[in-house]
Parts: sequence; C-alpha cells; structure tokens
Amino acid sequence: MTKKKNFLYGPVPSRRLGRSYGIDIVPFKVCTLDCVYCQLGRTPKTTTERKEYAPVDEILVELKEALREKVEADFITIAGSGEPTLHAHLGRLIEGIKELTNITVAVLTNGTLLYRPEVRADCYKADVVMPSLDAGDEQTFRKINRPNCDISIKNVISGLCQFREEFPGQIWLEVFFIESINTGDEQIASIKKAVELIKPDKIHLNTAVRPTAEPDIKRLDAEHLQAIAERLGPHCEVIADFSKTRGTLSSSIDSQEAFTPHKKRSSTASALLSMLKRRPCSLSDICAGLDIKPNDALKHIHDLQESGFILIERKDGNVFFKSPV
Ligand code: SF4
Repeated sequence: MTKKKNFLYGPVPSRRLGRSYGIDIVPFKVCTLDCVYCQLGRTPKTTTERKEYAPVDEILVELKEALREKVEADFITIAGSGEPTLHAHLGRLIEGIKELTNITVAVLTNGTLLYRPEVRADCYKADVVMPSLDAGDEQTFRKINRPNCDISIKNVISGLCQFREEFPGQIWLEVFFIESINTGDEQIASIKKAVELIKPDKIHLNTAVRPTAEPDIKRLDAEHLQAIAERLGPHCEVIADFSKTRGTLSSSIDSQEAFTPHKKRSSTASALLSMLKRRPCSLSDICAGLDIKPNDALKHIHDLQESGFILIERKDGNVFFKSPV
C-alpha cells in the first residue's frame, strides 16, 4: 500500500482566519527567504525556482475527502513548509479548490515573487492574499529576511504595489517586528512609507511569541507593538498572542486521565503530529485545532512525548510542543 501524503492539515486555529484548513504545497523548507524568526528553522538553500512541488490532483483528492467529513472551517489557507508561490501550478490549484467548495481561499505568502506577472496571475484567483513585509529598506531586509540573491526589497515593494492595483480581493499585510532589528525610528518610517504605497486592506503586527530559527531573537512587549501599530495607521492591528498559558504541564498530566476510545485516540495522535510538523503549537492551539479538551490533548502529548515524537520548548515562559524533525 502506498503511503498517504498529507498535504492537508487542520482545521487549525488562527487569530486572523478563525478555523482554517491548511494546504501545504511546498516541501520543508523550500523558500525564497531564510528569515531569522522562522518557526520552521533555517532554510538550507534559498530558491526562486517555481516547480510543481506537490501534485495538484492529489492535493484536490485529499481535500475532497476532508470536505466530505463536513468539519466546519472559515478558510482554506494555502501555505507550505516554505513559500507557496514557488508552486508552479498555484493558480490551477485555487481553481480546483473553488470547484469543490465555497470556503474562502487565502494564500499565505512572503510576497517576494509578486513582482513576476505569472505569480500575480495565480494569486489573483484567491479571495485573500496575506503577504509579509518586515522592512522598507534593503539593509534591514537582508538582516531579517536573508533573501535569495535574485530578490531585492525594491522588487518586493513594487510587486506588492502592482498586485494591489490589479487584485480586487483583500490584502492583509503582516509585519513581524524583532527588538533591535527592525524597530529603529528610520526603519519604522520606511515600513510606513512602503505600507502607504501598497495600501493593504489590513496590517497585522506580529512578534516572536513562538520558537524561532535563531535563538537570540527578542520579541517586543505588547505596549511597544501597540505603539508601532498606532504609528502605522488606522488599518493596523496587533495579532501577536501574548496570552499563552504558562506551563503547568506535568502536574496536569499526572492528575488527569482522559477517556478516549482507542480508534479516535490514534487518529487524533496522527492529526496532532501532522499539525506539529508544520509549526510549534501551544496547548490552546492544539485544543482549538483538533477540537479536543485539554485533558485529551495532554494525554496524547504525554504518550507521544514518551515515545520521542514530541519535544517541548519554552520561550519567554510559554510552553510549545513541536516535532523533533
Ligand atoms: S518565515 Fe516564511 S518566508 Fe520566512 S523563511 Fe520561514 S517560511 Fe520562508
């Protein structure tokens, strides 16, 4: 029997998207950037080559099966263990999704390839495009995003502006701030200038509340991020989640034994592993994503951790669970 490929995961919780099915269309870690804050770790070699990294027909079969189970979701989000616009048939995939369902389709992208007309044409088919922009000047861009040598900030900003002119859907721009890397006065002024040119419908501010590729990344505190939000204008909103539960994990596991039928337990465990392969998650992320109670989640986490399938990482007093690979 051939091994089933899991292109689809979730629905996972998202502050921006509610409950969202994710579709992972590029393998770990095919990306144009090597961001210092990436939750997936370092990019071994950045690329700008577009290819069919995952077969569109197989992705659509998997989605069709998932939709039959009628789990409620607000969005289908095309993402990847890297940059999804590197997939050469992104447009065909979005068309295929729209033939299967009316759920809103979002593309989560670092925006670096939107200067290419064929990438803009593919993204045009989505309902929401969520690009990132963490710098308005070349030096900061290189420091925070460590781009492929084909990419410059000038191209990224002009690509985003062109896309804005053509695209009738929603553009939600995410800006990720790291203390002392892109928080200087001039750096924020150049981001503001870029944002005014791009004219996104929403601007979402984030910071390093989860484990990052580089260990010495400092997140901003909530007040500092809010002050930047006010400076960037009225469409700007802080989305970083500063409210993660502090770890009282072992005592919870010791004292609570969840009752879960065996069959459901094994499928939940595999969904949990699939979720953690994409990104580290807190206990509340897992509960919301898999629609299970904390007791159940802790039981699965405990079993999988004992077998070496889950690692625990602490960042700024918060507990995250992640896959060892
Ligand atoms: S954060 Fe996104 S864009 Fe940056 S390296 Fe990771 S996958 Fe690529």
